[in-house]
Amino acid sequence: MARVLLLLPTTSYRIPDFLAAAARLGVDVTVASEEPSTLEGLNPAGLLTLDFGDLRACAERAAAFAREHPVAAVVGVDERTAVAAAAIAERLGLPHDPVSAVAAAGNKALLREALSRAGVLSPGHRVFHLDEDPRKAGRGVRFPCVLKPTFLAASRGVIRADDVASFVGAWDRIARILESPGVAARGGAAAREILVEDFVPGLEVALEGLLTHGRLRVLALFDKPDPLDGPFFEETIYVTPSRLPDDIRQRCADVAQEGARALGLRHGPIHAEMRVNGDGVWILEVAARSIGGLCSRTLRFGTGTSLEEILLTHALGLEMRVEEREERAAGVMMIPIPGAGILEDVHGIESARAIPGIVDVTISARVGQRIVPLPEGDCYLGFIFSRAHTPDRAEAALREAHARLEFQIA
Ligand code: ADP
Ligand code: CA
Repeated sequence: MARVLLLLPTTSYRIPDFLAAAARLGVDVTVASEEPSTLEGLNPAGLLTLDFGDLRACAERAAAFAREHPVAAVVGVDERTAVAAAAIAERLGLPHDPVSAVAAAGNKALLREALSRAGVLSPGHRVFHLDEDPRKAGRGVRFPCVLKPTFLAASRGVIRADDVASFVGAWDRIARILESPGVAARGGAAAREILVEDFVPGLEVALEGLLTHGRLRVLALFDKPDPLDGPFFEETIYVTPSRLPDDIRQRCADVAQEGARALGLRHGPIHAEMRVNGDGVWILEVAARSIGGLCSRTLRFGTGTSLEEILLTHALGLEMRVEEREERAAGVMMIPIPGAGILEDVHGIESARAIPGIVDVTISARVGQRIVPLPEGDCYLGFIFSRAHTPDRAEAALREAHARLEFQIA
């Protein structure tokens, strides 16, 4: 049996979906994470501890492991594990993206540089150092702008500013996030940087795709129908297929392909976010990973193949039937966080599930957990999933279901 080495942050939501996919494909899995598991001794082939921040050590340790348990593919799930996966694949001689390309995709400043060098439409930007004077920095930029850390995800620390005063406020808030111990340690030098970009108005879409020898296959294009105008950018609804006209959808695919090429990405999943306005299709982000949270559950291909099965099949280099996404529309809502505090109770889950078109409501936060909204927060309350004949219905079902939910946060 072929073995896949799956690199997962300990907090990943996606472990069960990847394990289910591996079971369906009949492949063995080794889960590598950063914290040693007490079960490692019981299951030496199934679990591995790696320090994803130390690429060389990571690759050596994985190579030693692979001598005893041959590894046919290495898969990461987020920015950090994707870089480690590329380094390990390189060491093992497996098909992979250049480590530098994956690292550039995971750093928003390097991403912007690569895109502008290649002439791909992407917001004007400047990188500042935390030691600089924010008031002076703010006097030198165009408004509106967006300030953000270079290496975080899920809109953490992403803040719009409309004038020098709000720029300084945003700067200070991001500085506090960057200086918190976990973030500072993980980011290293990048945790001393703030990226400032021109604010790009427009409709936002997300593209889920898979690169093979540099060629992009679009797996899904999602509309994000809730306006994302700031000051914070909480992700809520994703609906696919996109309702944009054919020519714009095609343009989004072309632009994502150009973005991947600009970064040097050639092999593996990408998740791109773009904004569409009168000037064209702008790239906000091209990440060398698949869609985050539990959102992949919206996607079904052919007669029920999951995104995770497609990713594992692709990583293993196995022949893949070209299955289209199912015909029905699908949506997911990342449930907005209504306020800060301790989650005490959730009401209305059954009633939300009963709305026609709703497939599931999953609350991922635990009762007793501290809930932190953006821009500081980095966890989801939960997810609502819908399927319907049209994208409009899939979206409406999400909104109706959400209206039935009530979160008690003290
Ligand atoms: P993350 O990796 O944390 O998701 P992004 O850079 O993708 O960070 O920003 C998160 C969201 O913030 C985007 O999806 C978009 O809605 C908004 N945003 C970020 N940068 C810009 C920009 N330059 N102009 C307009 N909106 C932006
Ligand atoms: Ca993003």
